[in-house]
Amino acid sequence: MLRVIENARVMGSYHNSCIVIENGVIKEFGGSSLCDKYRGVAKYLDAQGKVVIPGLIDSHMHLSSYAVGKVRLDLRGVTSIEDLKEAVRSRALSLGESKWIVGMGWDHEQFREKRLPNRFDLDEVAPNNPVLLIRVCGHMGVANTLALRKLGLESEEGHLYEDRLYEALKRVPKPPNYRDLLLDSLYDLASYGITRICSMSVLREELDALLHLRERLPIWVHLFMSEEDYTRVEDGRVSVEGIKVFADGSFGARTAALREDYADDPGNRGVLLKRSGELVRLAKVLEEDGKMLAVHAIGDRALEEVLGALKLVKNIRVEHASLMPPDLLQEFKNRQPVVFAVQPHFTISDSWLEERLGDRVKYAYNYRAMIEAGFTLAGSSDAPIEPVNPWISIGAALTGGLLGVPPLAIDEALEMYTSSGLRACGVKKAPLSPGSPADLVILDESPWHLNKLDIPGIRALLTFVEGNVVYGEGKWY
Ligand SMILES: [Zn+2]
Repeated sequence: MLRVIENARVMGSYHNSCIVIENGVIKEFGGSSLCDKYRGVAKYLDAQGKVVIPGLIDSHMHLSSYAVGKVRLDLRGVTSIEDLKEAVRSRALSLGESKWIVGMGWDHEQFREKRLPNRFDLDEVAPNNPVLLIRVCGHMGVANTLALRKLGLESEEGHLYEDRLYEALKRVPKPPNYRDLLLDSLYDLASYGITRICSMSVLREELDALLHLRERLPIWVHLFMSEEDYTRVEDGRVSVEGIKVFADGSFGARTAALREDYADDPGNRGVLLKRSGELVRLAKVLEEDGKMLAVHAIGDRALEEVLGALKLVKNIRVEHASLMPPDLLQEFKNRQPVVFAVQPHFTISDSWLEERLGDRVKYAYNYRAMIEAGFTLAGSSDAPIEPVNPWISIGAALTGGLLGVPPLAIDEALEMYTSSGLRACGVKKAPLSPGSPADLVILDESPWHLNKLDIPGIRALLTFVEGNVVYGEGKWY
C-alpha cells in the first residue's frame, strides 16, 4: 500500500515537501515532483504546509500507574491533612465499605500542618476501607490499619517507603477495566504526538494486559520489567527491553543516596539500594539476551555505583542522573551508558531542591553540561509523577524551569525526544529516514518559530504510526 503526505515541511530538510510511505515504512522524501509521480497509484494526504517531525518518544514513564491513575483519588494540590482526610472520607462514602481506596499526588511540603499524614488520620475517616495514599514522588506512601492488615505489613505510623511501598502496590487489586484504561492512556499519549514509550518497572500483569491488547495498540510500547518478572517478549508493538532496578530513592522523600548529608536533615544521606556488583551481575545476564539494565540513580552516591558497574558492562541506561557534580561528569565521559533518561519537568516540580541540597543544587539537572560532555540524553516524563505532555517538558528544557538550570536549544530538546529516545528503547533505526516506520507528527505550529514560552502550547494535529493516523482527523484521498 502506497501513501503520500504532500505539502509538508519536513524537520531537518524543509526543501522536502513530500513523504512517500510504503506498507507503513518510509520509502523516500522529495520535492513536489516526487509527489506527482505517484498520482493515481497512491493515497494522498495534504499537510497544508505544516511542520512534520518524527513521532516523539517518552523514554521513561509508568504506563500502568498512569492508567490506573485515571480512576485513583487525585490528591495533587491538596493543602492540608484535613482536606486530605475529607477527600478520603467522601471517596469511602461513594465506594462503599471494603473497597480499596488508592490515592496519589499528595505532598506534605504543601500541607498547613507541616507533617506527614499517618495511619490514624486515615483510620479516622475510612476505618472500613483499605486505604493507600502515595506521595507525589512515588517513593513513599501512607496506609491505614485495614490496608496494612490486608497487605500483611506492619508499620507503626502506616508509612511505607521504597520496596515496601512497591510490594504493597503490587498486591492492591487493579480496577476491573484495567485493560481499557491502558488502551485509553496510549491514545492520550498519541494525542500529544507520542508514537513510542518505554514503560518502567513493569509487572507481569501489565505485560499480559498489553499482550492481550496487542492487535489494538496505537503506539509502540517498550518495557523495562521489574527484576522478578523479567521475561523475553517481542510481539508486534510490544517488546521487553530489559530490567529496571532502583539504586536509590528520591529527593522529595530524602531517600536519594548522597555523598554528603541532606542540607535540611543532618546525619541523613539517603538510602543506597544497589551496589555496583549487583548491577554488573544483572547487566551480564541481560547482555546475553541483547537487553539493557535501566538503573534508577538520582543522588551522586548512587551514580558512583553506576560508574563502578560501567567499568565492567556497557548495556546500562541511567534513569534520572539528577545530581552530577563535575568529578562524576568527568568520569562518565570515559564510561558512558547507553543513554541518560532525564525529565526536564523536574526543574519545575523540584523548586524546593535547594533546601535539600544547599550549594550542590547547581549540579542538579544540568543537562547543558551533560550534553556538552557528549552524553546522550533521552527525554521523558516519568508520568504519572510529572505531566505526560512532552511539550510541557520540552518547554521546561528551553527555559531551565523554576530552578533556572542552564537551558537547552530547541534542536537539542527535540533530539532528546526523537533519535535519543530510539536508543533508549533499543531501536537501531534513525527517525524520519527511509526504511524506518512511518511514525510522524504534523504540528499546529513550528517549534522553531515560536517564543519558548509558547512551546508548551504546541499541539499535534495528526499523529501517524506505521503510516496510519492514530490521532486527529486525517483524510487520505
Ligand atoms: Zn520513574
